[in-house]
Amino acid sequence: FEQGNAGPLVAAIDQGTSSTRFLVFNAKTAELLSHHQVEINQSFPKEGWVEEDPKEILQSVYECMERTCEKLTQLNIDISNIKAIGVTNQRETTLVWDKETGEPLYNAIVWLDLRTQSTVERLINKTPGRNKNHLKHKTGLPISTYFSAVKLRWLMDNVDEVAEAVLTHRAMFGTVDSWLIWCLTGGKSGGVHCTDVTNASRTMLFNIHTLDWDPELCKYFDIPMEILPKVRSSSEIYGLMVSPHCLCKSGSLSGIPISGCLGDQSAALVGQMCFQEGQAKNTYGTGCFLLRNTGAKPVMSDHGLLTTVAYKLGRDKPACYALEGSVAIAGAVVRWLKDNLGIIQTSTELEKLAASVGTSYGCYFVPAFSGLYAPYWEPSARGIICGLTQFTNKSHLAFAALEAVCFQTREILDAMNQDSGIPLTQLQVDGGMTSNRLLMQLQADILCIPVVKPSMPETTALGAAMAAGAAEGVSVWSLRPEDLSEVTSEKFEPQINPEESEFRYARWKKAVQRAMNWET
Ligand code: ADP
Repeated sequence: FEQGNAGPLVAAIDQGTSSTRFLVFNAKTAELLSHHQVEINQSFPKEGWVEEDPKEILQSVYECMERTCEKLTQLNIDISNIKAIGVTNQRETTLVWDKETGEPLYNAIVWLDLRTQSTVERLINKTPGRNKNHLKHKTGLPISTYFSAVKLRWLMDNVDEVAEAVLTHRAMFGTVDSWLIWCLTGGKSGGVHCTDVTNASRTMLFNIHTLDWDPELCKYFDIPMEILPKVRSSSEIYGLMVSPHCLCKSGSLSGIPISGCLGDQSAALVGQMCFQEGQAKNTYGTGCFLLRNTGAKPVMSDHGLLTTVAYKLGRDKPACYALEGSVAIAGAVVRWLKDNLGIIQTSTELEKLAASVGTSYGCYFVPAFSGLYAPYWEPSARGIICGLTQFTNKSHLAFAALEAVCFQTREILDAMNQDSGIPLTQLQVDGGMTSNRLLMQLQADILCIPVVKPSMPETTALGAAMAAGAAEGVSVWSLRPEDLSEVTSEKFEPQINPEESEFRYARWKKAVQRAMNWET
């Protein structure tokens, strides 16, 4: 079989909010050869709280690795051709573990979690002029429940085991990338405690100009710097796989370098080849994240966007920055319709249901379950459904849920265009929700520009594989633009007139105002 002689392969671990994937690519052609995916359980122990189990996350990685290797063997592909592994992950999600026992000291607090809302309000009230952008000059971020520092502070203040481990110098903090790399490179027997600049830039403890932890920020949140991972570039050898668990029937992944690490949204930007200033992509997963490459300089937003490190592809390479519009709830609204209301059994059913009516019939759904992120940054906002009549049914609600994702994207695209002064003429998209063709068409209609979707949907994993394969000492993947393979894609053109689009968007904005002020 031809693929048996596939040449160098690169693997990626894609640890997202809703699932974990392990994928193997051909380093010369970027072809996806095999993959496996496992869902991750989320727990909601109290209203607004969102947790995941760090051990389940790790176990899901092992399971995906084993199954993918089995599939490769069935395809007659030798897994010893895997030359590197990249890691990409849900960002901001916060973990603390004990470096001596290797045990997590609490569940992972997921980025969407709202338990720190009162802390955030207290911190903002203490700043001069009650300014949520008080730390933005260093971090590029507003003070919000979203980022890791406040979650870590909560763990230190509320979980005795964490407080004690910090006092006795046994605590390690990390986002999911750090946890996985530490475990996979040996854990308590010498695991590497590191993160990359993109993940670090989402903690609020990291100075995006100096590209290092910031002592003043750590002092502000009263976090001891010794518990932080070492910050590395997004593409270099961090360590070798040494875990005994990665022994598959078909061979072993032990000894393979882990040499790529990027937060999921950065990885998608790389996977979509947005290497030039001005290029942008929007990823539709649990949330929705539009990132635009701003090149070597961090650009501060006047319209509620974040400034973040996009990537740094090598120790001696410059950092690239991005403006980012983050929407907390996109695919999560689909999961909510499924799990909480039970109006669909699977996420794919939503498209059929919404398509059966083709309109929301004047119903607007603002899914502000975790407050509102960009461009509002309002943690006290809550979800509303409005415009209901006797006629409204679950199909209209399904349509309104899809439209909500599109309107939220329109809001961040508008902010992005205002900040940069150069409007985007088309939108590159990816993520789990983009398999929904109705959503893609609606998005083009509501933005009034074409939406372009690559035919290989796993761009996040591809970005991590590219970073891993291009790392110094691995060098099986070329990032030179002339060597990057032609990406085939599908284009959705706007089909409604702009006046109708504007009318619906104006209604949406009214609904958002209600969601922001619903208590007053
Ligand atoms: P993440 O990286 O955040 O884990 P994914 O990119 O894997 O997310 O996308 C999963 C999300 O997409 C889920 O929230 C799911 O509800 C949603 N989703 C998947 N398929 C569809 C579909 N056909 N229509 C609408 N939503 C979908």
